[in-house]
Amino acid sequence: MKDQALWLYRQLTARSRTRLLETLREDGNIPIAILFYHRVSDVHPNEWTISTADFARHLDWLQENFEIVSLSRAQEMIRAPKNEKPVVAITFDDGYSDNSTFAIPELARRGIPATYFVTTDFVRTGRPFPHDLRADVPLQPNTFDELRQYLEMGIEIGAHTRNHADIGQCVNETELRDEILGSIHDLQTWLHKPIDYFAFPFGLPHNITQLAVDILHEAGVKGFCSAYGAWNWPGSPGFHLRRIHGDPGMARLQNWLTYDARKLADSQQLPFSEPNEKELELTTLLLDE
Ligand SMILES: [Zn+2]
Repeated sequence: MKDQALWLYRQLTARSRTRLLETLREDGNIPIAILFYHRVSDVHPNEWTISTADFARHLDWLQENFEIVSLSRAQEMIRAPKNEKPVVAITFDDGYSDNSTFAIPELARRGIPATYFVTTDFVRTGRPFPHDLRADVPLQPNTFDELRQYLEMGIEIGAHTRNHADIGQCVNETELRDEILGSIHDLQTWLHKPIDYFAFPFGLPHNITQLAVDILHEAGVKGFCSAYGAWNWPGSPGFHLRRIHGDPGMARLQNWLTYDARKLADSQQLPFSEPNEKELELTTLLLDE
């Protein structure tokens, strides 16, 4: 839908959205939103870039309408049995150097927490991402120094594989472990800090496997992010953190985040289950015997 059509649709459904939010609030069942961005810049616009002005408008609107929390706070709220507040957490994927110009200083200036997921081999080598080379615009990935600065500015750093690998296509377990655990190890070595969260590149259900989820759980990671556009309901296991796309324009963001009944339904079939769900299944099995 075009921006104007989206705006009109939101106006027409405004009353039902407000009523829905009230019902969710009364039930203590307001879902939690986690957004993901990639690159904030006014040069070389593309599908994974948002302009500095639009990003500032997003933050204005989010600050007015939501409590903006860290990823770990969002996870606590997802695990709690009830939530009565509209809440959003902000994340970034890939690791673009351009984010040093506006996005990160602006988040720090406003005191907004964020988690920044980095693909470590691009930081190590400085080579551009394959998706940017395909688009003929070799953009600069972050450097070690930039990541250390972000950390000092209160931004949490998370892992996003070493080579932006599609984990769903990764059939070799050694390679899989290298992509996942290697990227976590790289960041821990560079930043001298534990890395608590991992985001799957591409983030659709078919880009995530049970083996990968189990490897993350065994490694003591606190949770992982997908990116297929879903909300997180209170009372969930909370190891899997569902995210919504922030890069597209304001109309789309507002349409997503104002509790439209159509957007709240998550009908995705997932090819993996979360550790807590598996423990529950096991308990049920034992009780049945
Ligand atoms: Zn990515």
